[in-house]
Amino acid sequence: MKKIQMKTPLVEMDGDEMTRILWQMIKDELLLPFVDLKTEYYDLGLVEREKTRDQVTVDSANATLKYGVAVKCATITPNKQRVEEYNLTEMWKSPNGTIRAILDGTVFRAPILIDSIKPAVRNWMKPITIARHAYGDVYKATEYRVPCEGKAELLFTGKDGSQFRETIYDFECGGVLQGQYNKDSSIESFAHSCFQYALDTKQDLWFATKDTISKKYDQTFKLTFQEIFDRDYKAKFEEAGITYFYTLIDDAVARVIRSEGGYIWACKNYDGDVMSDMVSTAFGSLAMMTSVLVSPDGKYEYEAAHGTVTRHYYRYLKGEDTSTNPMATIYAWSGALRKRGELDGIEELVSFANKLEEACIDTLNDGIMTKDLVGLVSEGYTATAVNSIGFIKAIRERLEKKLA
Ligand code: NAP
Ligand code: MG
Repeated sequence: MKKIQMKTPLVEMDGDEMTRILWQMIKDELLLPFVDLKTEYYDLGLVEREKTRDQVTVDSANATLKYGVAVKCATITPNKQRVEEYNLTEMWKSPNGTIRAILDGTVFRAPILIDSIKPAVRNWMKPITIARHAYGDVYKATEYRVPCEGKAELLFTGKDGSQFRETIYDFECGGVLQGQYNKDSSIESFAHSCFQYALDTKQDLWFATKDTISKKYDQTFKLTFQEIFDRDYKAKFEEAGITYFYTLIDDAVARVIRSEGGYIWACKNYDGDVMSDMVSTAFGSLAMMTSVLVSPDGKYEYEAAHGTVTRHYYRYLKGEDTSTNPMATIYAWSGALRKRGELDGIEELVSFANKLEEACIDTLNDGIMTKDLVGLVSEGYTATAVNSIGFIKAIRERLEKKLA
């Protein structure tokens, strides 16, 4: 069989531990036999990050700006224990944080659904994609533990000499104080990424804040989204047959629970942190959660939402059999290849990506799955646990048939 040709290289970001092992298996079994894979390879494994003093992470992000599409393996974010384990000269920053800062992007997370695993919320039929604004608010707040009676004020001094001063509270006893901020430029980027991705995936976009209470802060988020929508996206949304919908956060939560899914839910930083854990748990498994970073000018970096699955890796190193779920990592590849195919006008590549995903779903629907999923299967379905390579080979069998 003739291999599918590519035009532009994908930016390939290799990673750590168990996911690095899966990465190679996926390439060997599911990609290289069928696609003349063209990638620009960056090794973001911790060893190489140490060796290059993390320059490799910056280079990979810049390559993504250049080519437009990247696929990333999970990577270790070093902590104290990792500094000792890998003999690091510095506690290198989270690669995802570095890449996100360079791309100025928003992360979209969506679960992969299968018939035999029912979400905890019965009426959810389609995935709910959460977009989290990963900048500012409480994550960059300045806090103060007020020790005694006294006056707290909000003071802003403009570069032009103007001043704004208002009493926050006249403390008659000790208390707590917090100063939060966000930037117009970051909120605008967030809005563009969300509208772009909604158009891209042809899904409605929901956005919610607490603007009735937060009349300047949250109101700015609401107005920014509306302005950008009306100016740049309204016509495109109409053409695509999708809608943008704003509501209050408490109303959104109620609607989400009653919905059947199938839309993107854009959240402020804190809401996104909390809601993405709730939604992903309700859908079943972290191992089935996909993630894509989208920049406001439409650059894409696909990955799995989970980490490097350290516990499985240590068992793997001891020669024990591991049943780590490669689904989200395979979908990172299929997502990136599909996007590359769309951008370069290579229909065969788009079709390959679709068939790869179909082969994955068929395998799961045939009851062949990794251990983590077997426990989640609903009554009336049968499932057999296989190891990672067994699962990948079962996908390959089905993929070969589809491609024949
Ligand atoms: P994790 O790697 O996501 O794994 C946590 C647990 O979830 C695993 O021990 C496993 O449970 C289960 N799990 C996750 N993915 C699975 C899969 N594909 N198949 C089967 N089970 C899966 O999170 P972590 O252990 O907290 O973090 C490990 C390392 O990953 C850390 O160094 C962290 O810095 C890094 N990390 C990287 C990213 C990223 O690159 N995007 C994200 C998060 C964490 P059982 O052990 O019970 O089977
Ligand atoms: Mg969280």
